[in-house]
Amino acid sequence: MALRPVPVTPPADLEPWQWPEPQWRAIVEHVRAGRTLRPERWPGGARCAVALSFDSDHETNELRDGGKSIGRMSQGQYGARQGVPRILDVLKRHSVPASFYVPAVVATLYPDEQRRVVAEGHEVGIHGWIHERNSILPPADERDLQMRSADVLEKVTGVRPVGIRTPSWDFSPETLAITRDMGLLYDSSLMADVDCYELEMDGEPTGVVELPVEWIRDDAVYFAMNRFSALRPYTPPEGVFDIFRREFDAAYAEGGLFQLTMHPHMIGYRSRMWILEELIRHARAHEGVWFATHADIVRYVKAAC
Ligand SMILES: [Zn+2]
Repeated sequence: MALRPVPVTPPADLEPWQWPEPQWRAIVEHVRAGRTLRPERWPGGARCAVALSFDSDHETNELRDGGKSIGRMSQGQYGARQGVPRILDVLKRHSVPASFYVPAVVATLYPDEQRRVVAEGHEVGIHGWIHERNSILPPADERDLQMRSADVLEKVTGVRPVGIRTPSWDFSPETLAITRDMGLLYDSSLMADVDCYELEMDGEPTGVVELPVEWIRDDAVYFAMNRFSALRPYTPPEGVFDIFRREFDAAYAEGGLFQLTMHPHMIGYRSRMWILEELIRHARAHEGVWFATHADIVRYVKAAC
């Protein structure tokens, strides 16, 4: 299928405040939130949906920029050796399905992990090849990597992925066209709403559903650290739990969707795993809460709205 034209690049001699309206409007409208997909009721009369997700980046956080740090790769390996098993145990204990987004390189390094994830009732979705940044790739390479990533996940798990979370939630002007052309059901990388919505491209509905994320509901924001910079975790685990719980409580009060993004190498520690378990317990203590994979939530809202 032919590529749609990307937004006009401003001439080098024009500053943004000098751009004519068609120029900035085309940039804004290239990828946009369209109609809201918010059902009156969730399955079984539930009043709130909970979508838990885990981005199994493992070693690719180091590899994607060409890094070769053995120390940082060991942190990635922790995600596979300790993080994912701890997470799967909690999910199993509470019978909660979740979605795991897995780069093709990680799926190749840890095929048994992905098979266990799927065997235990969870979803595996696309998360790039090696956690590359889409916005710096040549369009043909981005298309090739996204398609090959889907093939690798299908080969490893036996299930064709139906959704994508772009690595680092990074979107190029081509990403949505690739996702649409691949026939994927949904994307989960953008942030225009708290409810699902249909993505539009240049003013036209694409049929691709967005299940929106937010940095506020991402453990990496609060727990990331860098030994050689001033970046340190600045929110204690209790504070992170409090933010996530308030996000859930408001979603429940509004009858909406609570979506959360976590990373096995961020949440999967002895002093942090309680956040996940306590959140699940908290949600379970409410009547009418539907826990589902991102794919199942998207299928439901697409049919109901
Ligand atoms: Zn990631």
